[in-house]
Amino acid sequence: MAVLGIAMTAPAGIIAREGGPSKPLVLAGRVVILFGFRRSLNPTTVCGNPIARENRVYKVIIIGSGCAGLTAAIYAARADLKPLVLDGYEPGGQLALTTEVENFPGFPEGILGPELIERTRKQAQRFGAEFRAGAVGSVDLSKRPFKVTVGKETFETETLIVAAGASARMLGIESERHLLGYGVSTCATCDGAFFRNRDIIVVGGGDTAMEEATFLTKFAKKVYLVHRRNEFRASKIMLDRARANEKIEFVTPYEIQEVHDVTKKSVELVTLRNTQDGSTKQVAVEGVFVAIGHDPNTKVFKGQLDMDANGYLLTSHGPKTNIEGVFAAGDVQDHHYRQAITAAGSGCMAAIEAERFLAAAGS
Ligand code: NAP
Repeated sequence: MAVLGIAMTAPAGIIAREGGPSKPLVLAGRVVILFGFRRSLNPTTVCGNPIARENRVYKVIIIGSGCAGLTAAIYAARADLKPLVLDGYEPGGQLALTTEVENFPGFPEGILGPELIERTRKQAQRFGAEFRAGAVGSVDLSKRPFKVTVGKETFETETLIVAAGASARMLGIESERHLLGYGVSTCATCDGAFFRNRDIIVVGGGDTAMEEATFLTKFAKKVYLVHRRNEFRASKIMLDRARANEKIEFVTPYEIQEVHDVTKKSVELVTLRNTQDGSTKQVAVEGVFVAIGHDPNTKVFKGQLDMDANGYLLTSHGPKTNIEGVFAAGDVQDHHYRQAITAAGSGCMAAIEAERFLAAAGS
């Protein structure tokens, strides 16, 4: 069994800035050595790429190393299935980018997201799960063993658990794209400390926006919470907490029209547009945090795995996809609950189903 990581559309978690908003620094991924798997009878190539060294066939590959993928890895490793976990560009998933987690059972005082992930990862490694950095470029699920290509290598596996998560959504304006990493960010935890004593904007009206705005008041002088409607999707407790914070000013109903100054490669001013009367105004800020939700990382499965109109994988009987032996867990198949604990639970279910599938197949 192996677990794989998929390319994310917005690799916020691997981009940090050193000494201020103008120096991007990309953090390196991890490399692991793979061993101990049975040999394939049919060596081949996929998309011109060689099958991974010695044509080993994993029992389980897990794509993604967030809560769902890591929990699947713990269960698969404890079942002696020697899973391979592919990290992708956002090792640890969304939790690695968050701050305090107060609702994960077993931590009465709360726990930091990255710490929870690190502990879960160690737990999986303790039972023999292996990890490999890299984004999944393509998969071939037409027959078993399934083929998963990462960079120039293709891995074979008897079962596949897709726990590739979801990536941060962007506003879609040109200036945002040019200034990403130069004052525009999708990760308060990663970049918040660079905005000490500065004025910033957080965009969004959900729990993520409330959480990030509240967290950023630790550093920023002032946080403008810009949302396109006067109503909020955020839960009452998180909305109330943000409203009670005197460093946060709510600016509604506004959307960001433009972020300036692309030519200077830094954020200095933002033009806001009133979504009701169309009027505009400008706010001087040095940072913009986009917190408007996420998209599932499912592009490489298009045409092979069934998905809904928004790209979320469709499952039945728990984690089962439309292809026998392929299971899905976590945010990649759940746009409703999207919690760490539900992702972990579905990762557990996927690993148990993979184990049963292998047993029934006599593998
Ligand atoms: P969300 O609930 O989908 O909210 C996204 C927000 O962004 C909405 O207010 C939406 O506005 C706005 N938005 C979307 N596209 C936009 C665009 N192009 N321009 C401007 N605004 C845009 O996403 P989320 O806040 O990331 O939360 C996702 C899930 O995770 C939720 O279930 C949430 O409860 C959970 N979560 C929980 C915690 C926690 O408990 N600690 C923390 C974070 C997230 P409209 O409302 O107008 O559509």
